[in-house]
Amino acid sequence: MNRKGNRKTLVTAGIVLAIALLAVSLFVLGTDHQGENVGETSENAETPKDSEITANFEPTEVPTSPNTSTPTALDIMNRYNANLRPSATDDSYRTTYEVFVYSFCDSDGDRIGDLQGLISKLDYINDGNDDTSDDLGMTAIWLMPIMPSTTYHKYDVVDYCAIDPQYGTLDDFKELVEEAHKRGVAIYIDFVMNHTSAKHEWFEKACQGDEKYRNYYHFQKEKATGYAKAPGTGGDDAWYYECRFWDQMPDLNLNNPDVRQEFERITDFWLELGVDGFRLDAVKEYESDQKEVNVEILKWFADYVKSKKEDAYIVGECWTGADTYDAYVESGIDSTFAFAFSQAEGYIAKAVNQGNAPMYAKHLQESIDGPRSYNENAIPAPFYTNHDNARSAGYYTGENDLAKTKMGWALSLTMTGNSFLYYGEELGMGGSGDDENKRQAFRWSADENTEGMATALKAKKTIKNKYGSLEEQEKDGDSLYHFVKQVLKIRNASEVIRHGDYTYLEDVSGKEYCVIQKDFQGKRQYLVYNLAVGSQTLDLTEVCKDAKVFGIATALQEDIAWENGELVLPGYTLVVLE
Ligand code: CA
Repeated sequence: MNRKGNRKTLVTAGIVLAIALLAVSLFVLGTDHQGENVGETSENAETPKDSEITANFEPTEVPTSPNTSTPTALDIMNRYNANLRPSATDDSYRTTYEVFVYSFCDSDGDRIGDLQGLISKLDYINDGNDDTSDDLGMTAIWLMPIMPSTTYHKYDVVDYCAIDPQYGTLDDFKELVEEAHKRGVAIYIDFVMNHTSAKHEWFEKACQGDEKYRNYYHFQKEKATGYAKAPGTGGDDAWYYECRFWDQMPDLNLNNPDVRQEFERITDFWLELGVDGFRLDAVKEYESDQKEVNVEILKWFADYVKSKKEDAYIVGECWTGADTYDAYVESGIDSTFAFAFSQAEGYIAKAVNQGNAPMYAKHLQESIDGPRSYNENAIPAPFYTNHDNARSAGYYTGENDLAKTKMGWALSLTMTGNSFLYYGEELGMGGSGDDENKRQAFRWSADENTEGMATALKAKKTIKNKYGSLEEQEKDGDSLYHFVKQVLKIRNASEVIRHGDYTYLEDVSGKEYCVIQKDFQGKRQYLVYNLAVGSQTLDLTEVCKDAKVFGIATALQEDIAWENGELVLPGYTLVVLE
């Protein structure tokens, strides 16, 4: 019984009770027992309880189940999506869950997330059973850094061939890989080659004057921007080393063959453990803003990885505009993240906030053609938010903010390529400003003390969580969680959505809604998005009169209508026709 149903029952019960009261009063007035009974009944009238009502009056007059309750968005989506099943995934056009292990799930009570905690929640991410619907159905996991480090975020690596003790052991990692693979889930690890920790033995040896290790980094005699003074040096003997992000993160010299050999050894180590891919941190800083050099470094890495594991997936973080990040896949890495569609200022959030469908529709094919103009095998890597970005629930305010948050994910998760979803976004967790705020504990429960809650990382300000915890949202058919899960279900069932080329059908689109045709290997689907609160009526007789509904994702509680080429599309809804 949902909340609305409850309210309706109470109202109905109240009316029945009032009528009954009148009858009782009339009856009582006709007897000698005036007063007491009426008083007692009046008290009951203020706090009507189902049991009392049915005990006092004819049960047939009181509806005990709300058979007239409004269907939830989930009820409506289930009418169309219930029979969808994932299509085979044997390539890297996947749906990837980005996990910050530290804040995901704690297994041993120290409130720091760990690998065993993650293993215990694999069934939430994907239970490996196509017939169940209580998992997200993700087909890959990107683990933010898991190697020993001095920081909570672990982007400063102290040892590239181990697991940070806060997270567990190599045996835990092996178990994670095995359990993920059983479920058809690939494991990608964050791979930080731009810099080490200042506590890494290479850097410590370099600072002790070891020539070999000094050449692992960029040391020079001159002070410069982005450089810090080497510890233990000073005066005329002062040396400076490059450290673009932080003085505890010295930048490596990836042009040094010895450094490359180290990383080849490290790559072998992780491939042998069964990892399926690498997310490369900060690729445009390898040699800061020297694109040609960085592309050559990435080519060395891609060639090496693919020579060892042909289908390993490599995605680079090149935080720039599309012209630049597209060019980086010339190196042979599969992907660079599609920043143009991400964050509050990206195409998706702008389209949703402005109710401007062309803002999204017009740029879609660029996300494929851009990288493919440099590498015909490139895989687009759309994402909407990550651990460095404000969380998406904060992009929308005022009326319909929940519906807009939902549609942002509908736009992101129906894009071609390997699509990324940052943990907790399916709940609309809050977080902006300092990095810690964007990386808070996954909200398994509203109660912070619930077992598994990984709350060790403190936010720098009070985080406003507009929407409920998983426990709460699971019970609410109108929640963001259920909406995102239905979009994932549609994505995972459709090879066309994951792989297809786009055609924006401008003639049948409007300002607030758009029709996108997607084609893959002779199969065709139409994706129709409404970014307005009001419903739209579309005449698609010339486009796909005989198509069937493949799936829908609706943010509101209204059904669609599709007949003879006419589509009535409720507000904030995605319909997929085929
Ligand atoms: Ca722990």
